[in-house]
Amino acid sequence: KADEYDIVIIGSGGAGMSAAIAAFDKGVSKIVVLEKMPSTGGNTNFSSSGMNASETKFQKEQGIDDSNALFAEETLTGGHDTGDVELVTFMCDNSAGAIDWLDGLGITLNNITMTGGMSVKRCHRPTDGSAVGKTLVAGLVEAVKDRKIEVRTNCDAKELVVEGSTVTGVKVEEKSKQSTLSAKAVIMATGGLGANQDMVTKYRPDLKGYVTTNQSGATGDGYTMAEAAGAELVQMDQIQIHPTVEQESSQLIAEGIRGGGAILVNKEGKRFIDEMKTRDKVSAAELEQPGGFAWEVFDQTVYDSNKAVAGYDKAGLVKKGDDLASLANTIEVDPAALKATVEAYNAVTTSGAADEMGRTQGCIAFADGAMYAIKVAPGIHHEMGGIKINTKNEALSADDKPIAGLYAAGEVTGGIHGNNRIGGNAVCDIIVFGKNVGEVVAATLSK
Ligand code: ADP
Repeated sequence: KADEYDIVIIGSGGAGMSAAIAAFDKGVSKIVVLEKMPSTGGNTNFSSSGMNASETKFQKEQGIDDSNALFAEETLTGGHDTGDVELVTFMCDNSAGAIDWLDGLGITLNNITMTGGMSVKRCHRPTDGSAVGKTLVAGLVEAVKDRKIEVRTNCDAKELVVEGSTVTGVKVEEKSKQSTLSAKAVIMATGGLGANQDMVTKYRPDLKGYVTTNQSGATGDGYTMAEAAGAELVQMDQIQIHPTVEQESSQLIAEGIRGGGAILVNKEGKRFIDEMKTRDKVSAAELEQPGGFAWEVFDQTVYDSNKAVAGYDKAGLVKKGDDLASLANTIEVDPAALKATVEAYNAVTTSGAADEMGRTQGCIAFADGAMYAIKVAPGIHHEMGGIKINTKNEALSADDKPIAGLYAAGEVTGGIHGNNRIGGNAVCDIIVFGKNVGEVVAATLSK
């Protein structure tokens, strides 16, 4: 019958589409993916770095020595030991498998870089070094189409149907028409809440007025729906702000630009932190600078090696100069101060002296020639808390009992990133757990 499904997946981002593909490939046929927006992909579209993964075939090919244990350790340390050890271990142990799985779907992430908080190259990007989001979404959409999995866009999930204590369906609204879909299992994959100012300030009053990098469908509906069905929400006050957001456009400036050698200076032309520190620390340091912002400064090599930069430039976000002095004039920073800053930074790479800010990663000297700068400040980026789950992606109640029929994956879940997420860990999270939940539900339904 129409509107009777084995699995209803709410949200068509990386987590939801991975779940659909994985469940289909394990034999489930009646699957629908609901998306409230006119198009698919959610915030995953805008994922600007890559997918962190360890012990991958691509790392091995490139002689990068990494381990699942080190990945887990750095994820937990990055989150100041507030992440869930079991979930983190599961994610890291299954990360290489997820890279292989994507490769099998035609999504090859073999260009490997670093983001803040990792000691080895672990952030996997598409072959051409572009941001992972668009390639990932395009590849997943293709795989969903190949399998003829139903996707309903402009379909807004409003409420879970709960019978007794079991989730048995979803009430939806399409073109102002309401209906109910029945399901043997519902997978919540609605992403975060950055576009819902009321919800952000409910959990974090101090973030009132911040810009957000999130797409407008990131309204936190999944938290409300799951909570009403008895699920526990954890660490909801852990809303990550990202340190490099251009404020007029809310455009996130990719972390790989810092990883490639860019520095942050304040309006006096001085550096103020090791730019490769974790997002929480860099954001906090920026807010302490005069005016609460920074200039992200880089040379032509960085411009050319990060595909995203040309896009920012086209959008008018990049200031330029033929040399450092002319850039300094354009951004109204004292040229002598900026020159001294860059010279000191360059000296580290040539003399082997210690960097004045203690930076040890991505310290790459500026070449002479054209120079660029983007004005950045922190913006709301990612809800690290969310629905409590176990390694089977079952949504849990406060006393750790699975809510029958309800599963969750992706940003809507909590506990993995603790109170600080490492750049590139969201994509690992959504793919590992998206694939996992599809397989878990398929196995449960076939029993
Ligand atoms: P993740 O990275 O966890 O996959 P994304 O933000 O990429 O999360 O995707 C979540 C998707 O869920 C977004 O496209 C968003 O528009 C969609 N979504 C959010 N709330 C609802 C809802 N109530 N009904 C249907 N889709 C929703």
